[in-house]
Amino acid sequence: MSDIILKIKGLRAGIEGKEILKGIDLEIRKGEIHAFMGPNGAGKSTLSSVLAGKPQYTVTEGTIEYMGKDLLAMSPEERSWAGIFMSFQYPVEIPGVSITNFMKTAVNSHREAKGLEPMKAGEFLKLLREKMAFVQMRPEFAKREVKRNEIFQMAMLDPVLSILDETDSGLDVDALRIVANGVNALHTPEKASIIITHYQRLLEYIVPDVVHVLKDGRIVKTAGKELVDFIEENGYDKF
Ligand code: ADP
Ligand code: MG
Repeated sequence: MSDIILKIKGLRAGIEGKEILKGIDLEIRKGEIHAFMGPNGAGKSTLSSVLAGKPQYTVTEGTIEYMGKDLLAMSPEERSWAGIFMSFQYPVEIPGVSITNFMKTAVNSHREAKGLEPMKAGEFLKLLREKMAFVQMRPEFAKREVKRNEIFQMAMLDPVLSILDETDSGLDVDALRIVANGVNALHTPEKASIIITHYQRLLEYIVPDVVHVLKDGRIVKTAGKELVDFIEENGYDKF
């Protein structure tokens, strides 16, 4: 079996007729954490949205293979069932649906896709408690604790490839630690993560194996974690 989790070749994609990704090539192997950095508007969120299969985005050229399968032929649900997780930050805003019910539906749809029976109530509660304890989430504050909630969802679904797009501008140190501790604790040699951030700070806690700089829809630089320090000092102008 190949150790490649994700292979992107010549990817061009956009939204509402506007091309944003202008030829992306990328390979992610088992056990790797890849960080994507880059200025606002570079296309970082577009890349994560295309990977998650958000319907607003159109792929015009290129291929994406996930664990040897054609990702672009899979629906967003099929991608999720196959182990791709993208932080969906505000599921609790679905009116009348609690986090518990939301996660129950998500977990059971994953089980159904694997041919498993839905979880019994007691078994589900046990899992829920275990994962809430893991992220130290207090249910009564779950709506406000966006970062904890995000990592909690990740822990519940136990993905192969997690994609975290840190778009929040007001991430405090506590929030960074929650994300970092969660990502690090859930990481195994069989899994991979894509961390999108313009916070160098986050990458002090989650040490990436590979760092990419995305600029104007292209990967303009790929290097090791030392690139984070270079960006800290020089910004993105030199790329
Ligand atoms: P990043 O996450 O790196 O800041 P994005 O992927 O969010 O970048 O955005 C890339 C580009 O796509 C930006 O120039 C942005 O203005 C543009 N864009 C985002 N959403 C839309 C939209 N709905 N219609 C047209 N352009 C958009
Ligand atoms: Mg973004």
